[in-house]
Amino acid sequence: HDFNRYAEVLFRKDPLLISFSAAKDLVIKYVFPLAGNEKAIGLSYRNTPDQLPMVEEVIKSGQVQMGGPINLVQGGTAFIGRAPIFLPEGKLWGIISAPLNAQLLFKFSEIEQASEHFNIAIRSYDAQGKAGAVFFGDAAVFDSPDKLLSRIYIGGHSWHIAATAKPDNNGLAPNIYLLRGYFIISAVIFSLFIWFRFEQISRQKELQLKRLEDKRLLESVGRVAKIGGWKIDDNLNFIKWSQQSSLALAEAEDFSPATLADLRSYFSEEDYLLWQAKVKQALKTAKAFNIELQVRPKNAQPLWLRIMSDGQRVLNSSCIAGTIQDVTDKILSAQLIEYQASFDSLTDLPNRRSYQERLELAIKNARRSSNRLAVLFIDLDRFKPINDNYGHQAGDQVLVEAAARLKAQLRDSDTVARLSGDEFALIVNNMTHYQDALSIAEKISQAMQQPYQLSSTSAHLSVSIGIALYPDDADSAVLLLKKADQAMYEVKASGRNGCQFYTHEMQLKSEYRHQLRNKLITALQKRELQPYFQPIIDLKSNKISKCETLARWQQENGDFIPPIEFISLAEESGLINQIDLFMLEESSQQLIAMNSATELSINVSPRLFHTKDNALQNWLTAIEKISQSVNITVEITERLLTDDSEKALAILKKFKSIGIKIAIDDFGSGYSSLNYLVKFPVDLIKIDRSFIKNIGIDPSSETLIETILAMAKRLNIEVVAEGIETQAQLTYLQQHNCAYGQGYFLGKPMSRADFHALLKTH
Ligand code: C2E
Ligand code: MG
Ligand code: MG
Repeated sequence: HDFNRYAEVLFRKDPLLISFSAAKDLVIKYVFPLAGNEKAIGLSYRNTPDQLPMVEEVIKSGQVQMGGPINLVQGGTAFIGRAPIFLPEGKLWGIISAPLNAQLLFKFSEIEQASEHFNIAIRSYDAQGKAGAVFFGDAAVFDSPDKLLSRIYIGGHSWHIAATAKPDNNGLAPNIYLLRGYFIISAVIFSLFIWFRFEQISRQKELQLKRLEDKRLLESVGRVAKIGGWKIDDNLNFIKWSQQSSLALAEAEDFSPATLADLRSYFSEEDYLLWQAKVKQALKTAKAFNIELQVRPKNAQPLWLRIMSDGQRVLNSSCIAGTIQDVTDKILSAQLIEYQASFDSLTDLPNRRSYQERLELAIKNARRSSNRLAVLFIDLDRFKPINDNYGHQAGDQVLVEAAARLKAQLRDSDTVARLSGDEFALIVNNMTHYQDALSIAEKISQAMQQPYQLSSTSAHLSVSIGIALYPDDADSAVLLLKKADQAMYEVKASGRNGCQFYTHEMQLKSEYRHQLRNKLITALQKRELQPYFQPIIDLKSNKISKCETLARWQQENGDFIPPIEFISLAEESGLINQIDLFMLEESSQQLIAMNSATELSINVSPRLFHTKDNALQNWLTAIEKISQSVNITVEITERLLTDDSEKALAILKKFKSIGIKIAIDDFGSGYSSLNYLVKFPVDLIKIDRSFIKNIGIDPSSETLIETILAMAKRLNIEVVAEGIETQAQLTYLQQHNCAYGQGYFLGKPMSRADFHALLKTH
C-alpha cells in the first residue's frame, strides 16, 4: 500500500518513468503501475544475465546508479535507475529500479532537437573507467579532434557527452546550442536528483523512526526512573526541559522554564547559586557536576533533587545537557539512618556515640576559650526493680520521663544524652565555678526524685551523680566520662542518692578494683578460695548446732583479701555466681568429710537470681543433690525480696520444695519490712550485727531486738544473733530467749581443720 502511494507521487513528478519496481532478494515483488507490467512480477535478476552485472555493481557500491539503455522485457528501451535498499541492521533487503523511457528522455531533454545542429554522442563509462557502448548518436563523434566533451557522474558511472557542431549554412557553430547541451545535462541531473532524493527520503525515514524510538525510549525510561532531562545554552536558556523535570519540581507536566533564573524561587538562594555556578563552570570548562539541592514547593513537603551533568557539549551544539532526579527518599532514609545512629529512639536524646562527639567538640571549644566544663554521669538508683515489678513498658515510661526532666534542667548550650539503660550524661559548658556543676547536680537530683506516674501506680527514684571537670580531672572525652563514671560509682557504693566530684583516690581505687578483678579470675581457676566455717551456737545448750560458711581468699604471699572487697567486686562482674557454686560444693563436701550433723548455712548473692545464663539452674541442681546429705540453710538478703518479689517468691518456694531452709541475713540493716516475714516462707532470721553491738548502749536497739524476737516467736521463725563479741551481749540474748548466736565471742570463722578439731572437742 505504502509502495503504491509513494510510486504514484513519484510518477506524477516524473513523466519519464516507465515503471517503478521493488525486488526483494533480487526477485521483483512490486511494480507500479501493475497494469501492463504484470510480466515483470516474479522476475529474478539472477536469471537475467544482461542486468545481473549492473545489479551486483549497485549492491556493491551501495549507491543509486543509472544504467542502460537496455531492452525492456515489456518492450522499448530505457535507462534504468537502480538503488539498493538496506535494512536498519545493515542487511540487504533488495533492489528498487525505475526504467526511464530513453526516447522520451532524449526528447524532453531536447537532445533530439540539439541533434539537428550538433553531432551528439553519449556513452557510459563504468566505475573502473572502462568505456561502454555508445548508446546515443554516432560513436565517431568521440573521435573528432574538435569535439566538445562533458561528463555527468551518475552513481559510480559516468556519462560522457561529445558534441561537434554540424556545419550550418554559413559554417558557424552557434554557442547557444552548447548552452543547450548543458541544459540536457541539467535535465539528466534532474532526473537523477529524483533518485537521490528517493534514497535520501528512505534514509531519513529510517533515521526519523529510530530517533522517535530513541526519544520514546528515553522518555519512558525517564518516567519509570523518575529522571528528568534538560539542555541549557551559554545564555542559561533552557533549550530542552522534559516533563519529568517539571514533575521533579512538583510542577505540572506543561511547566516549562525559559531560563535557569525562572527556577530561582524554587531553591534557597544558596542552592540556586550553586546550580548556576556549576552550569556556568561546565559551559566554560566542560567540568561534570553532581549536586543535591532542596526544593521547598508551596503546600508540599520539601523535596531533594539530584542534578547532574557530564559537562560535555551536546553533539556540536552550544548546549550542555543534564538530568534532574527526585532523591528525597534516599536523602530521608540516609538522614534517618544518621539519626538512628546518633539518637536514642526511646528518649530522643543523643546516644553514647554522639555524646562522645559532642563532648570532644565541647572540649575543643573550652580549650580555645580557656573555659571549664563539667561532665555529669547520672545513674538512676534502683531502676531495675521497676522493670522487673511493673514491666518494661513502665520502665520505658520512667526513662522517657527522666529524660524530659533532665532536659528541662539544662541550658540550650548544654547537652544531655542517654548512654545506656538507666545511664545518662551531661555536658555543662562555660562553667565559671565548679560549684555550678554541683548546683545543677542538686537541681537534677531534686527533679528526679519527684514521683513517676505509671499507669497502675507511681514510682519513686533517686539518682547517683558523678562529676568530672575539664581541665582539672582530664582533658579528653574518654577520660572525663570514665572519671565521672568512677565518681558515680563512689556514690553508689556509699549508699546511692547523691553526687560526688571525681577525686584521685577514686582513680586509685578503681585501678585497684580492676587489678583485683583480674586476680580473682585466676584465683578461681587456681582454687585459691577456701570456705571458712563459723560456728552458730544453740544458746540454751551451748552446743554447735549450725555453722556458716564464709569465703576466704588467701593469696600466694599468705595475705587474706577480705570478703568485703572481693565479694562486692565479684557481684559487679558476675563472678559471684561461680564463687557461690564453688562454696556450696566445696563446703558441703568438707562438712561431709568431717562426718558431722552440723547444719550448713551458705550465702548466696541476689545476683544469682537475675542471671540470664544457666548459673541458677546449675546451682539449683547442685543444692538439690547436696541437700540429701547435708542440712542446708540458704542465707539471702532483703535485697532479693525487694528487687523482684514475684521471682523471689517462686524461687523460695522451690527451695522449700527440696527441703532447704531459708534465712534472712543481716536482718534489720536494709529496707526491712516485717511484711516479708509473712509473705515469704522464711525459717530463720539473722539479726544484724549493728543491733547486737548496741546492746547495753542504745535502748532503741534493744527494743528492736526484743520486738524481732517476739514477732519471730509468734511466726514460728528461728532467730540467730550475729556478731556477738562480749559476754554481756551473750547474756542479754540468752535472757531474752534468743535461740542461736554467732560471733567472735563464740567462735571466729576458721579453716576446715580448726573447725573439725572444734567439733571433736564439743
Ligand atoms: P555475712 O553473711 O553477714 O557473714 C557474717 C560476717 O560477719 C562475716 O564476715 C563474719 O566474719 C563476720 N563476723 C562474724 N562474727 C563477727 C563478730 O563477732 N564481729 C564482727 N565484726 N564480725 C563478725 P565476712 O566473712 O568478712 O563476710 C562478709 C560478708 O561477705 C558476709 O556477710 C556475706 O554477706 C559475704 N560473703 C562471705 N562469703 C560469701 C560467699 O561465699 N558468698 C556470698 N554470696 N557472700 C559471701
Ligand atoms: Mg551470712
Ligand atoms: Mg550476716
